[in-house]
Amino acid sequence: MIVTIDGTSASGKSTTAIKVAKRLGFVYIDTGAMYRAVAFYCVEKNIKLNDKEKVGKISNEVDIKFIFKNEVNHIYLNGRDITELIRAEEVGRAASLIATYKTVRINLVKKQREMGNKGDVVCEGRDIGTVVFKNADVKIYMDADTKERARRRYTELGKEGDFNMIMEAIRERDEQDKTRKESPLKVPDGAVIIDTTSLSIKEEVERVIEVVKTRKKKIKESNR
Ligand code: C5P
Repeated sequence: MIVTIDGTSASGKSTTAIKVAKRLGFVYIDTGAMYRAVAFYCVEKNIKLNDKEKVGKISNEVDIKFIFKNEVNHIYLNGRDITELIRAEEVGRAASLIATYKTVRINLVKKQREMGNKGDVVCEGRDIGTVVFKNADVKIYMDADTKERARRRYTELGKEGDFNMIMEAIRERDEQDKTRKESPLKVPDGAVIIDTTSLSIKEEVERVIEVVKTRKKKIKESNR
């Protein structure tokens, strides 16, 4: 079974996806971390982010792996654990830019499909239900008020930095992700929309589990 979770930045996708995957015993695929990994490689090696051809080539060459341990989804780039390093704001911005490149998307989508086709997965990102796994059994789209998302990011950053700047960065990221030519963020056909503004993580998880259970039941009935 494939469960896709798409949505805006800081809408609660990742936290929910990890917990849902754990509850269901599914593998979790964080596709945002893959775009971040390619961006991180470029930033660290001083590769110009606007060199589409070079960045595209890198996205094909790098080895990206996930290993889930101690409740954390670790990401390895060419064998090196970069889990913490890719969370920097600079890497997020760079990821959003290189994610607009067609070649980068083609290469990463290929890797995502290889990972997803191995079994039961919860796959999270911006284009999962619309492009990567168009025929997924369950599609979820998560969103929340911009102010609430900024509040979550601000708390995540240890309440450091300027709140209004964080909110502005979220707005910019939304704009970039929703208006780009290649695989823009949108609600996938047939997706269940969850507005997480006033929901707790526990409630978010329960809603998704409920959708999965209902879908499983329907699949079972139609197979009878
Ligand atoms: O989800 P996360 O913030 O880690 O993703 C970083 C960036 O990667 C997003 O802002 C988005 O531009 C890009 N991304 C994407 N497609 C995905 C996942 C992430 O374009 N499936």
